[in-house]
Amino acid sequence: MNELQKMVKLTKDLIKFRTTLNRPSELSHCFDYVERYFKGTNLKVKRFVHNGVNSIVVTHGEKIPKVFLAGHLDVVDGEDHQFKPYEKSGRIYGRGALDMKSGIAVLMAIMKERAKMSASVGLMLTGDEEIGGFDGTKFLIDNGYSASAVILPDGGKAPNKIVQKEKGAMWLKLTAKGKAAHGSVPWLGDNAIVKLTEAVTAVLSCFTPHEDHPNDHWISTCNIGHIEGGSANNRVAEYASAVCDIRFTEKDEPKKIVEMIKGKIEKDIKIEQLLNEPLVYVNSEHAVVKAYQQAMRINGLKPQFALDYGSSDARFFTSLGIPVILSQPKGEGHHGKNEWVDIDSIEIYTNVVKTFLEIYCCP
Ligand SMILES: [Zn+2]
Repeated sequence: MNELQKMVKLTKDLIKFRTTLNRPSELSHCFDYVERYFKGTNLKVKRFVHNGVNSIVVTHGEKIPKVFLAGHLDVVDGEDHQFKPYEKSGRIYGRGALDMKSGIAVLMAIMKERAKMSASVGLMLTGDEEIGGFDGTKFLIDNGYSASAVILPDGGKAPNKIVQKEKGAMWLKLTAKGKAAHGSVPWLGDNAIVKLTEAVTAVLSCFTPHEDHPNDHWISTCNIGHIEGGSANNRVAEYASAVCDIRFTEKDEPKKIVEMIKGKIEKDIKIEQLLNEPLVYVNSEHAVVKAYQQAMRINGLKPQFALDYGSSDARFFTSLGIPVILSQPKGEGHHGKNEWVDIDSIEIYTNVVKTFLEIYCCP
């Protein structure tokens, strides 16, 4: 088996583990597999379980190598057949093929290859990115793990792309309280659902309508993700609540968005912040980015910057000023029914990362 064939096998092996968040034992078996992969090398393998979330760190012993290769082994759920990976027309199909087991296979292979070289590169894999990354990446950073640069194959969808920006996320819960009455005499009550609907309309009016967006949709948005209220069909609702999922760009400060919303809705609507996660911004002039672009060019690629509307664990590093290279093999369909990764691009991605490590840190 050549190097690429080995990585294809490794990707497929990882996909076979149904590492969804509702299957903690399967996740744990997948981490066991990674641990076994490094058996017999001189690398130090450390396992962590925090609030039930597994992580693994593989290094030459240091807590702060120059570069961390990082990723998440958890995947969003899929249909049974998606956990039986197969190859077709130069692609691997399966849940996690793109997001992000092929990327992890590359990082594992590179880490193993570097076992005999001097220190300065480490690998960290976590198990809770899809639900926020607080007990994985954040936990490891809080425990002193850090680096000057992070390679994270969790965005970009092609080896010639680097994600430059990811939107920040803020969840606001609006709660309206009213006064109950029988549904036949609504004038005796005060309907919380009516109050909440007005508030939700006011919140949405703070954001640019979709049809007026710039072409790249790089603008702050709001989606009403959840709504509930009322207790019976024939009762004036006493209670209603909604959650607004706000994604913001560098042009809007979350604090200011909340102030604007407060100015538009009635004073008796309660606002709670359920989540406030920073956006990711990677400075294109940073030495790490320049070195990575150089590695792309050496491998015949034309570097391009990309935008990502979602969020990733990159934010935990970038908010500390640590640049993250979000780039990955070519693929599509992450979180969808037909997720795939292009096999040739796995090789290209591998070569780019290897060249980057040679240029940037440790020839
Ligand atoms: Zn991902």
